[in-house]
Amino acid sequence: MPSVAAGANVSPCESVTARPGVDVSQGDGSRVAAAVFRGEVVLVPCPSWCSTDHAAAGPRDLESVAHASDSVWLPTRAGLADMEVFVSQYPFADGGTAPVLALDATGCGEFVELTRAEARTLIAERRAKLDDFEALVDLVP
Ligand SMILES: [Zn+2]
Repeated sequence: MPSVAAGANVSPCESVTARPGVDVSQGDGSRVAAAVFRGEVVLVPCPSWCSTDHAAAGPRDLESVAHASDSVWLPTRAGLADMEVFVSQYPFADGGTAPVLALDATGCGEFVELTRAEARTLIAERRAKLDDFEALVDLVP
């Protein structure tokens, strides 16, 4: 059975006997991502919000394991791409272990990370615009 070296930042992992290509689904409905760590395949438990199909991607390097939530698409103007926002986490990447809000405001697939405060500000701004829109609607008989 694979083991994880003491001091390595892999505490969320479980050692397993799975090999690449082996079905790593869990019988209890929990989700995992298979990753290769020091030549062995380990399973990384998914957070409850992760909806990534890790089995389709197959085992990756531990640093490349990425959890992602379902996306929320925020409409923009007609003809422009909707903004996409979702929760993302690279639990073993350098400098990035905590979940973040990823926002693609242009539809180009380039994401910026929002802090909780920045996201709340964006939400408040959009709500304010909807209030303005509703006030206009009320002017129409
Ligand atoms: Zn996941």
